[in-house]
Amino acid sequence: MATTPIFDSILHALNPVSQLGRRSYYITFPILSTVLLSASIELYAVYVLHDPDSVGMPAIVILLGSIVYFAFRNGIRGGIAATLVTILYYAYIITTHDAPVQDRRVQWQTVLVLAFLYTLIATIIGGLKQVIDQLIEQEANERRRLQTIVQQLPVGVIVTDKLAHVVLANKNAELMLGKKITEHMIIDNKFWIESTFPVITTLATGKPVVAQEYTVNRYGRKKYIQVSATAVHNMSGKIIAAATIINDISHQKELEKRKDDFINIASHELKTPITSMKLFVDILADRLVKLNDDRSVRTLDRIRHQTERLQSLIGDLIDVSRLQTGKMSFTKKEFRLDRLIEETINGLKGTTKQQFIRYTPDVPIFVNADKFRISQVITNFLTNAIKYSPPKKDITVFSRVDNNHVTVSVRDEGIGITKAQHKKIFHRLYQVTGSTEKTFPGLGMGLYISREIIRKHKGKIGVLSRKGKGSTFYFTLPVTTP
Ligand code: ADP
Repeated sequence: MATTPIFDSILHALNPVSQLGRRSYYITFPILSTVLLSASIELYAVYVLHDPDSVGMPAIVILLGSIVYFAFRNGIRGGIAATLVTILYYAYIITTHDAPVQDRRVQWQTVLVLAFLYTLIATIIGGLKQVIDQLIEQEANERRRLQTIVQQLPVGVIVTDKLAHVVLANKNAELMLGKKITEHMIIDNKFWIESTFPVITTLATGKPVVAQEYTVNRYGRKKYIQVSATAVHNMSGKIIAAATIINDISHQKELEKRKDDFINIASHELKTPITSMKLFVDILADRLVKLNDDRSVRTLDRIRHQTERLQSLIGDLIDVSRLQTGKMSFTKKEFRLDRLIEETINGLKGTTKQQFIRYTPDVPIFVNADKFRISQVITNFLTNAIKYSPPKKDITVFSRVDNNHVTVSVRDEGIGITKAQHKKIFHRLYQVTGSTEKTFPGLGMGLYISREIIRKHKGKIGVLSRKGKGSTFYFTLPVTTP
């Protein structure tokens, strides 16, 4: 049935549920309505039924209904107002209708009992309504508080219900995603964007999704955002909502890119002069040898050693920037890994601090890998073992074949690494910053490069170590059967 807006708003105003939370505890409307109701009943009895006593029971029921209604609509005051009018009407009936004195006393007693009952009902229902009003208001205030906080936050925030409908989002979320946020944007196929995946994942698994990076096209420009999402559980552990936090990391990315560009350019610029320096040092060394100038040869040896260190640092810088830009290439060939380990150890013999490097391979090990890069990893493990362990302590290399994989490990009896640092030392430019570690030179690139090399060979890399108890660095590679 089509209804007019006026009719609709009247219905809305009369519906007590629509008044919940409004705290409209008026008495005028309840009084006027109950007076009107009582008058109608009275008129109906007198003029239609021609018997003023005929409406007793229906009148009680109808007026009780009105008390309940007004208590629920206008609180305790509304209920009591309706009760008062009803009791007055009953008093009017008793005083105007003729009845024997005996009956009248019973009638007054009944009215008294009804008055008590009605007041009780009005107070209970009205009280309940007022408590509900308070709860609704508290909830609304809470929501407003939350909304204000969420709007002020410097990050983007999107709160969804358990079906991924957006229930709350701030301006920053729109700014960072570069699009208007609508209730159905996450579930609506048309608006599917990759950066809403964390919400879906967290709602499906209940586990938080931490700092996923995405690129978004914001007003024609490529921007970087970091999205984290957490499911909200109720007291019995069920997922009821999810909160998503969006961070704009474009500036950070830009700085990182500039840093990478700088490393890239600087390392390539440094490479050429160092290579020529090394060449000239070699030429000079040849001449000095011919002149039998031993002291100068020794000095030049030191220069050569330092130049080689510089060369290796620059090589690492170049590798890091190649890895960053995905430009490191690998040439895989089958070779004997046990032999490569032996060769690498021999190459490092003169550089130890009187540490003895042990290695006793038992079987030939064949791998299909980039020999130069794998030797780089072994060298990195060994030079670190030499660097981070005291003189005269042994360094042991093991290679064990197991389940089509070989595990190569390098064990030292050096300063060790706390568990908290085990993952971090494989990150780019990470160095442990304790007082012991500070005394060792380095830039924190070696293990990062090693990790990337091993990853590209589908192997694993890691460390077993405790502070002060030495370390065992290991990597695995798939073996081939020749
Ligand atoms: P660098 O040695 O140039 O600092 P690496 O990436 O090779 O860089 O190593 C990163 C960090 O890991 C080092 O700074 C050091 O703190 C720690 N580390 C590596 N190898 C060892 C080791 N054998 N014993 C103790 N600490 C080590």
